Amino acid sequence: MDIQGLFKEYYRKNPVPPPPSIERREFAFTTFSSSGMIRHISFKNPEEMNRYIIERIPRHAYYSTAYYSDPSAPEMEDKGWQGADMVFDIDVDHIDTPCKPLHDTWRCKACGAHGRGLALKCPVCGSESLERQTWVCDRCISVAREEALKLIDILEEDLGISRSEMIPVFSGHRGFHIHVEDKALIDLEQEARREIADYVRGLGIDPDLYIERTGDLYKYKYPSTAPGWRGRIAMHLALRGKEDTPLPREELKKLIMECVAEARANIDEKVTMDVKRLIRLPGTLHGKTGLKVLLLTIQQLEAMDAASIIERAVALPDTPVKVEMEEWPRRVLGFTFSEDGSKKTVPLYLAVYLVLNSPTARILSIG
Ligand SMILES: [Zn+2]
Ligand SMILES: [Zn+2]
Repeated sequence: MDIQGLFKEYYRKNPVPPPPSIERREFAFTTFSSSGMIRHISFKNPEEMNRYIIERIPRHAYYSTAYYSDPSAPEMEDKGWQGADMVFDIDVDHIDTPCKPLHDTWRCKACGAHGRGLALKCPVCGSESLERQTWVCDRCISVAREEALKLIDILEEDLGISRSEMIPVFSGHRGFHIHVEDKALIDLEQEARREIADYVRGLGIDPDLYIERTGDLYKYKYPSTAPGWRGRIAMHLALRGKEDTPLPREELKKLIMECVAEARANIDEKVTMDVKRLIRLPGTLHGKTGLKVLLLTIQQLEAMDAASIIERAVALPDTPVKVEMEEWPRRVLGFTFSEDGSKKTVPLYLAVYLVLNSPTARILSIG
């Protein structure tokens, strides 16, 4: 059976839950047979959506965070925008996690240099034209989960967003989406959303406003019970045992900014600002991994570690299969591999991820 067939089996047995107000959402899909995106699709009800998914077997499935009066109108300006959920995106692609040298490689298209780990540009010639092979492992998911928990805390404590209106979703790949379905926020325009994104990222904090002189030195002004960033910074100073320490001015300012860097939520602000975004449809499969885009509750996100999140996102069978691949990642999902040998036996769901993500991987045999 090919990968498309495995996806079909999954969708036959697992109907996709509809997003709220399904009739006002735009849907978009890519297929296994072409690279283009099919857009401006709308559904009247969950049955219609699931019939479409089983017939077409999408490789990737998305829906609009926006609500429209006419979601299938082919021109954006004719859709009749009626507001949008606020979505926060946490993606370890942008975070230098300690496991990257175990599974990510890059090759410079300009000079041919290559190496392991995260590289934004070639350390040899400076070119930004790099070919990358990246993988996700349990340690990546663990870092992303921590970021998601920090974000949820800031949204709840500082912005008063109720936990019941925050829906965490494991993206099926490198991180989490937090969907906020709060009626009071759906009308916010791009600039207001940017301010919220900047706030959770701790941008624009001026440490001079947080310190006071004491003799020749300076100390932090606020207690950990102070609202917002004032208290949050105090809490992080306390974690370092530095809450009441008078320091030279520049040293204290530097320390405050280190606390901000630790406490901020590392989100992709472009996603939060966008009021016409397409986002992955929870309950579908991610076309680069074969993992499920997994709806969670905040309680589950708090209680589950990365390994159990991955375990629950596994959607395809675990039948052992033999896979051949040129360069194996040392760690992928929860598996560790040695460098030697190009053929290894792995569960089918992992084989699917390897084949979807690497041009050199192929499944040789079942069993
Ligand atoms: Zn180079
Ligand atoms: Zn990793």
